[in-house]
Amino acid sequence: MDPQRDKQDPADIAKIIKLADGLYVRQAIDNLTWIDMGDYAIAIDALEETHLAGEVFEAIESTIGDKPVKYLINTHMHYDHVALNAAFVDRYGSQIVNVETCEIPADGKWFEGANRRVQLLHTPGCHTQEDCCIWLPDDDVLCVGDIFGWGLIPLIRNLTDETADILTGTYQRLIEFNARVVVGGHGPMLDTPMLARWVEYFNWLGGEVSRLVAGGAQDEQIFAELGPPDNMAAWWRFVAWKHEDTLTKVIKAVRRGKLTQFA
Ligand SMILES: [Zn+2]
Repeated sequence: MDPQRDKQDPADIAKIIKLADGLYVRQAIDNLTWIDMGDYAIAIDALEETHLAGEVFEAIESTIGDKPVKYLINTHMHYDHVALNAAFVDRYGSQIVNVETCEIPADGKWFEGANRRVQLLHTPGCHTQEDCCIWLPDDDVLCVGDIFGWGLIPLIRNLTDETADILTGTYQRLIEFNARVVVGGHGPMLDTPMLARWVEYFNWLGGEVSRLVAGGAQDEQIFAELGPPDNMAAWWRFVAWKHEDTLTKVIKAVRRGKLTQFA
């Protein structure tokens, strides 16, 4: 691995990014977003490390003051998104909001404030069954949790025709928001064209792998022919390992006859 690339990893050092007045992200390997609604605030996702509680609360206070974080939303229930749940409850009495703690209507659950509105949507099946996305229509910002994986296939289930359809269908739905900024669960900020680029990449791999497997190609040949696309080379950790992981999964699914739609 290229040590220079590691040194330049944009997620190594946490930084506070202002997306709009009263809307901030602590960007690191695990991202945490907070939103000033007016009389109260909402936070999204709660990191992996409990020792970061003090630093996070200080960052929130230094940007939006001491308003109570009334709701803490978990985009899903993985350990690296929920570690500070208890700390938020202790500090602010926050209500923890996720698919296990509340009912999310099919057309979303709205949070209203003097400053802005926030819509919580249940978008299951791309990463986990608990996946939620958060849409901020007044800011054109969409938080997608781990549905976006910087080139990775986000599924924790196996790749099949059925899960591939859920993935691309959900991506289509997210692309239609046409968000200015998309906040993923991990790493740098992204945008709507990157969501579309991932779908294009996935379809390209599906088609090419199906063609090569049908022609009798061995895995080594497939890896040699299908290198990481140049226009995704700058994606966070993509060339280092994500492309290889994704290609491996597509090859496996095609060889097992689970992914037939690209043939
Ligand atoms: Zn996750």
